[in-house]
Amino acid sequence: MSLFQRPALGIYIHLPYCIHHCIYCDFNVYELKQKTQLSRYVEYLLKEIEYFGNLYGKRTIDTLYFGGGTPSVFSPQHFSEILQALQKKFIFSNDLSITVEANPSSAIFSKLRALYELGIRRISFGVQSFQDHHLKTLERIHNAAQATQSYEAAQKAGFQDINLDLIFAIPNQSLLDFKKDVDFMVKLNPTHVSTYHLTVDKSHRFYPFIVEDKLATQMYRLAMEQFKKAGYEHYEVSAFSKPGFQSKHNLKYWEFTEYLGLGAGAYSYMIDDQNPWGVHFSNLRDLKAYETALDQKGHAICETEVLTQQKAQKDHILTGLRLLSGLDLEKYEKKFGNSLVISYRYALEHLQAKGMVDIEGRMLKLKPQGLLYLNQVLLEFM
Ligand code: SF4
Repeated sequence: MSLFQRPALGIYIHLPYCIHHCIYCDFNVYELKQKTQLSRYVEYLLKEIEYFGNLYGKRTIDTLYFGGGTPSVFSPQHFSEILQALQKKFIFSNDLSITVEANPSSAIFSKLRALYELGIRRISFGVQSFQDHHLKTLERIHNAAQATQSYEAAQKAGFQDINLDLIFAIPNQSLLDFKKDVDFMVKLNPTHVSTYHLTVDKSHRFYPFIVEDKLATQMYRLAMEQFKKAGYEHYEVSAFSKPGFQSKHNLKYWEFTEYLGLGAGAYSYMIDDQNPWGVHFSNLRDLKAYETALDQKGHAICETEVLTQQKAQKDHILTGLRLLSGLDLEKYEKKFGNSLVISYRYALEHLQAKGMVDIEGRMLKLKPQGLLYLNQVLLEFM
């Protein structure tokens, strides 16, 4: 397939600065010390866009996602420079969806309005909780009032598609506490909600206080029930949307289609004529190393994995099963030339016997039990 025939591409841009590094966060983030760091980072991003634009330019992009870090600490001028650089190299689809992640503390009306005027139509707030004591535990720098104010400011600025992130299983969080957060979220009525189970490894200082699995499962069930009642479609393990408001960019990951990641530590999955099953590659995470590599080579790729057919099949299953609509077995067979039901017969029989998955027509779907114990399901395909 020539470059011109390939489906539209998604681009992820990592903006790694935050005002404070929250205790539970393991993303590639750096605390912002001086505003000049932001302009410097954008300068390097522009170099990277130039490099990949020359390599993959003339591809159409239909999703663009600014994640972090805290993208909202960057100014509208920075976003404008990045958008202009991308537009010079890539073709913007008419229905291009642009999302910016924002922290309630740095999302004031004037900035939100300026972002809207740049053509950004989707905003995603890391709210996490509507209760100040839980926000403090997480070391978030915003409070509950700011979460609501920023949501309302975004609406006033023109945004009609707003995601709010909610975390559950915060140390000392009760089921009732979490219910209050869910109820409050439902009242705000955003178009999209993402709920994440707070997990940390054994060496983390949160670990002794972490909510036990049984309670975390009750919280997840509660979120599923309440959001469904409020008219949200539960379409991916962690994601709920009002009809027509699924995250177009995140679907690229779950449907195992191409995305190009730019910025320190960003990941990509791209297909080319030499690598029909695709290549995963990632950038250097360290900022200094990222900049040095860009100065020397024009890119900062540090790891590359060329996918074999077998690895591509596994990745397709691991990502596709996260969608509640299920994994399309006919499409899988057409793509890989073999039947998933035959190749993974024993795994499927085992999971069906345990009530974790089921086959409905041409779709392989998680059952409610499989949704609750997703890691066990995915292990069967590893
Ligand atoms: S604001 Fe978000 S990205 Fe930044 S440290 Fe906190 S959780 Fe991580």
